[in-house]
Amino acid sequence: MREILLVRYGEIFLKGQNRPFFMNALVKQVQRAVKPFDGHAWLHDGRIFVDRFSDMEECLQAVTKVFGVHSVCPAIEMEKDSFDAIADQAVHMMENLNGTFKVVSRRSDKRYPMDSPALNQELGYRILKANDQLSVDLHHPQHVMNVEIRDLCYLYVRVVPAVGGMPVGTGGQAALLLSGGIDSPVAGWMIAKRGVRLCAVHFHSYPYTSDRAKEKVLELARQLSAYCCGLKVYIVPFTHIQTEIHEKCRDDYGTLLMRRFMMRIAERCARKEGAKALITGESIGQVASQTIEALQVTNSVVSMPVFRPLIGFDKSEIMDVARKIGTLETSELPYEDCCTVFTPRHPATHPIVEKVAAEEEHLEAEALIEEAMAGIEIVAV
Ligand code: ATP
Ligand code: MG
Repeated sequence: MREILLVRYGEIFLKGQNRPFFMNALVKQVQRAVKPFDGHAWLHDGRIFVDRFSDMEECLQAVTKVFGVHSVCPAIEMEKDSFDAIADQAVHMMENLNGTFKVVSRRSDKRYPMDSPALNQELGYRILKANDQLSVDLHHPQHVMNVEIRDLCYLYVRVVPAVGGMPVGTGGQAALLLSGGIDSPVAGWMIAKRGVRLCAVHFHSYPYTSDRAKEKVLELARQLSAYCCGLKVYIVPFTHIQTEIHEKCRDDYGTLLMRRFMMRIAERCARKEGAKALITGESIGQVASQTIEALQVTNSVVSMPVFRPLIGFDKSEIMDVARKIGTLETSELPYEDCCTVFTPRHPATHPIVEKVAAEEEHLEAEALIEEAMAGIEIVAV
C-alpha cells in the first residue's frame, strides 16, 4: 500500500484519433512539473500516475498548474484481493469527516467478484457503521469516497481542481507583445492555457526607459515560463522609431503610429520563431489606442491573426487573473514603459486608417524596422 497522485485530464478525452498526441504532450508536461520534487510520472491504462515524490503536497500543487490537467487526487494504491482490507482503508480515510457522503466505485476489471453497486453499498454501510458523524446523500454529498478497481485498487476522497486547458505545444506557437504592465502577461497566460507555446517581443526605449524596466519584463517572462515551459524574449530597441514619430508626425496619431510599428516588428519576430499568431493585452476602450477604430488601425498592418483574449475584460477582472497566476506584484512595480514616453496630449480616439497611413509616409518605415530588427537582443528564460 502506498500514496500516489492520480492526475485527471479535461478536454483531451474529447479528442478522437489525435488523443495519443495530446496524452503524450500532457505526460511530458507533468513529468517536467514534478521533477523538482523527485516525482516520477507515467501513463498507464489511460491515466497519469505520479509517485516517488519527496513532498506530496508541493508536488500536487505543481501538477495543478499544468495546462491540460483537470484535477489531481492524492490516492492510496493497494492490492485488490482482500475486500476487507479495502473496506478498512476506506473507513480509515473517512474517519475524521462529518456531514454527508456517498461512495462511487468504478470497476474496469470486470472479473472482480463484486460489481460497482455492490461495492458502493457494502463500503457505504461499513463507513456509516464506523463514523456516526456521517450520513448518506446520493445527490449532493459533501464528500465522495472514490474507489477504482483496476489492475490495483485506488481510493481517494480529496479532488484538487487544476487549471484545465490543453497541454502546451499542442496548439502551435504565438508571439506575445509583452509590456511591463498588468495586461499582457495575463493575455499570454490565457493563450498558453489553450496549448499554445509562447515567445515574447518587448520594445524598450533606452535611455527613456531604464534597464530596471527591462529586467522587470524579463522577470514577468520568467513567471510566465513556469506555465509554458520556457520562452524566448525578443528585446527590440524602439527609441529611434519613437523619436522619428515624435519629430515628424501628427501628435494625436503618435501612439497609433508607434503601435503599428510594434505590430509589424512583432510579426517579423514571430515568423523567425515559426509562430503563426500575435497576442496583445488590449481591451476595448481601456485607453485611446484601444477603441474599435484604433484597433483597426493597428491591426491593418499585419496579416497574422491577432489574439486579444482580454478584449471583453474589465481591469479588475484582469487583475484577479494576474493575482492568481502570480504576475500582479511584479507588474505593479513602478518602472516606466515605452508607451508612456512621448504620450500625445490628445490622442485620436476615432482615427481613420487612410489618414494614419498617410501620416506614416513622413517616415522611412522599412529602414526604421530593419534597423530595429538588427538591434534585437534575444534572451531565453
Ligand atoms: P499592459 O501594459 O499590460 O498591457 P496597458 O494598459 O499598458 O496594458 P497599452 O500600453 O495600451 O496597454 O498596450 C496595449 C498592448 O500593447 C499591451 O497589452 C501589449 O500587448 C502591447 N505593448 C504595449 N507596450 C509594449 C511594449 N513596450 N513591448 C511590447 N508590447 C507592448
Ligand atoms: Mg502597457
